[in-house]
Formats: sequence, structure tokens, C-alpha cells
Amino acid sequence: MAKSAVNRRTFKRYTLEEYITQALAPAAARVRFSEVHVHGTWKPTIAQFRKDGGLKIVQAMWRFHTGTRGWSDIGQHATVDPDGYVWEGRSLLVPPASAEDYNDSDNDGVHPFMFEMVGNFDRGCERLEGAQLRTALGLCRAVMTLMGRGTEIVHFHRDYTSAKTCPGSGVDRAQFIAGVVALGAVPTKPITEVKPKMNVKDAEKVIAHLSAAWGAAKVTDRPEIHRLADEVRKVAGISVGK
Ligand SMILES: [Zn+2]
Repeated sequence: MAKSAVNRRTFKRYTLEEYITQALAPAAARVRFSEVHVHGTWKPTIAQFRKDGGLKIVQAMWRFHTGTRGWSDIGQHATVDPDGYVWEGRSLLVPPASAEDYNDSDNDGVHPFMFEMVGNFDRGCERLEGAQLRTALGLCRAVMTLMGRGTEIVHFHRDYTSAKTCPGSGVDRAQFIAGVVALGAVPTKPITEVKPKMNVKDAEKVIAHLSAAWGAAKVTDRPEIHRLADEVRKVAGISVGK
């Protein structure tokens, strides 16, 4: 990978909706996400996140991955923090360092989307719940929607190795998948606010003039004046009534 990635030290934080519409969907137009790989960090823990904050722990993972591990960048595409925010990771356009032999690392534009959830989710330790769980389910759902696939593309790290409990022995696979299904559709396009093209006050003035004209007009001309008033209402976003 390009050396510039190695020098990057800051990571952007998104809400789930922002991440899907601003990062995931544009990437999905350029590469194909064949699977979703779900991981738990184990370390850092939720307790560490509460103490240090998101940026610091994502940077610590980046340092560990690029330093100790010797990877070209942080391993994951995204990190879901305990408050449900998504932190950017490595470029979505390149394969992840997810699970050995399952990364589809030939850079052919097809690879898994991989995310980490911050926490130690082994039985009796920390819990995957609330906003963090919702975001994790939402990411799975978004990739399914963008790729036109079902839950068969969602995999836990432990599906690929018996050496790991990842994302944690306390995370029930069937329950997680049921959660993805129950979540329903998540928006993958920004919800664009339809802005009126005309100020409501101005529209009302024009309509007042039209009303006066309507009163003075011949009966046969009145429907046309009525129609014009409705056109003004439409561009100003006023509901078209009588
Ligand atoms: Zn893992």
C-alpha cells in the first residue's frame, strides 16, 4: 500500500448514517464487498475507551498494527466504539487484515468489509449492547443492502479459526444474525431535504394578488387563476388545498 497511509495519524469519527452514506456507499460503488467480517477488539476494552476516548484507542491500534505487526495500515476498515460511533480505518478500497487466508488480499476490487467493535465480549466480561450493538448490526445490514446480499455474507472472526472466540464468547451468533434481520432496512443514500424554491411569505403575497384578480375575473378565467395559485403554492412548499 501507499506509504502515505503509514503516516496517517488521525481518524475521522462518523455516526452510523454518516458512515454509510459518506464512506461505505461511495466505496461500494467502486469495489465489491464479498463478506462482512465482525470482530471484537478484546483489547482495548470498553473500560479503556471510557478512560482514553475513541481517537486515542484507534490510534493505539494503528500503532500496534503498523509497528508491532508490521502492517501497512490499521487492520480494520472501521471501528465501532461503545457509544455507537464509527471510526474510519484503512481505505475501504483495499482488503482488510481480518482473518488469515480469508482477506481476499489480491486487490482485485473484491474483498470483505471488516470492522472491529471495541470491547472484551468474552462471557462474563463486557457486554455488546445499546448503541454499539445497533451500529454493528447497521453496518452488516448496510453492506447487505449495498451488495444485494443476505445474512449469509455476515461472518464472525471465530468462523475462520478455532484459536479465537472473536468477537467474544459472550456474543451469540444466531442472536446477532437475528438482530441484523430484525433491524430492517437502513438508509444507504443521504436523505436530501427538499428545499422550497420560493419563500412562503412571497408566495402568499403573489397568491393574494391572484385572489384579487380572481374576484375581478370572468368566471371562465377563474380556473386558470386558481391553477396558477396552486403552482405558486407548490414551489413554495405550501400544501395545495382549495
Ligand atoms: Zn477478530
